[in-house]
Amino acid sequence: MHKVTSEELFQRALKITPGGVHSPVRSFKGLDRAPVFFTKAEGAFLTSVEDKKYIDFCQSFGPLILGHLDPEVKEEVHRMVDTAWTFGATEVYSLELAEWITTTLPFMQKLRFVSSGTEAVMSALRVARAATGRNKILKFEGCYHGHVDNLLVKAGSGLAGTAASSSAGIPAEVAAQTVVSPLDDEAALEAVFAAQGKDIAAVIIEPLPANYGLLVQRPEFLKKVAELCKKNGSLLIYDEVISGFRVGLGGMVAETGITPDLVTYGKIIGGGFPVGCYGGKAELMNMVAPSGDVYQAGTLSANPVGMRAGLTTLKKMQRLDGWNLLNKRTEKFAQTLRDGLAKKGSDLQVSQVASLFWIHGKTPAPIRSIAQIPANQGGTFKGLFLKALDKGVYLAPNAYEVGFVSWAHSDELLEEAAHIIISAAE
Ligand SMILES: *Cc1c(COP(=O)(O)O)cnc(C)c1O
Repeated sequence: MHKVTSEELFQRALKITPGGVHSPVRSFKGLDRAPVFFTKAEGAFLTSVEDKKYIDFCQSFGPLILGHLDPEVKEEVHRMVDTAWTFGATEVYSLELAEWITTTLPFMQKLRFVSSGTEAVMSALRVARAATGRNKILKFEGCYHGHVDNLLVKAGSGLAGTAASSSAGIPAEVAAQTVVSPLDDEAALEAVFAAQGKDIAAVIIEPLPANYGLLVQRPEFLKKVAELCKKNGSLLIYDEVISGFRVGLGGMVAETGITPDLVTYGKIIGGGFPVGCYGGKAELMNMVAPSGDVYQAGTLSANPVGMRAGLTTLKKMQRLDGWNLLNKRTEKFAQTLRDGLAKKGSDLQVSQVASLFWIHGKTPAPIRSIAQIPANQGGTFKGLFLKALDKGVYLAPNAYEVGFVSWAHSDELLEEAAHIIISAAE
């Protein structure tokens, strides 16, 4: 009997879905291979239609800090599904998660749940514009904030800080509402603020940029960002959709000791279900409808299944001292990789922060901006990715995506995975 293959499923998907995928990072674009179609996931593993098992370092791009199908989360989700799926009315489940967050993270004085990170960012920008009466948003080259129109921009070729859209379908007038500055560059930021500071409603930054490689920022740079915001009356928005509840309970706010005006969350906060969140200073959040006149709504906002999955995930991580232990485990994994790669004479390097890692080509210094990423990163990654895949390790299928280690990746499994990745390296 013929068993269906990923290749056949991909051909079917290509006919009816752009590029055969529902989000571009899932495609194996440039990798000369059909993406693997999966049927099951558990813990640190994915199972393909071919019945091949993979150690998963993509973990749905970040939400699954406990791994797939965590037993405690699963039980809570089942209980919730047996109780209600959605109310479209006030309920106790979002209240419990909101109270847990606001009491655990005091800088989150007030918050609103939405259904994705993109939505959280979009809404936070609207609040910032309403609060300041200004239109412009400053973002950094190499940070990703979801597919919001005016943030899908890159540095323009004109004056310092000008932006050009990085997607078709975005009016030039919309892109012009954004100013772009490079990461790791205080002087460039000073110049942009000197020229346009009075028009900038907010600066949005991934305080740990992890969507274009892992671009760890110097604390002095993050401090300068906050200083210039204050001086110019611009709000500071930390986009912690990826770093929030990943680097530690308090995210990068706790790590940096800098309290932004607004923070956005997604990914881990929903425990693998579609949840986003924005919040921060009460006086700003009071501007949101119905208490204020910044309109923002959502049919499935604060979905109870996501609320339960999120709260169970966060409480379990807290109870287990999960962040501390997981970060140590990942540190050891990264060191095993580095040692093995060096011993083999490979040029590959491993950047690691908390339970995030990124494999890249040799550079003389830590990579802090996209200009410092080696030019051959795509080619370097392709060889490694395909060999690792054949040997049963699934990395995110893109040279610029980071790897995610979950609670379900045991020390022994990480040891095994490290040896597979080392053996796949040139
Ligand atoms: C993933 C991500 C987003 C977008 O979240 P979605 O849920 O995919 O819309 C925004 N900002 C950052 C920093 C992210 O990592």
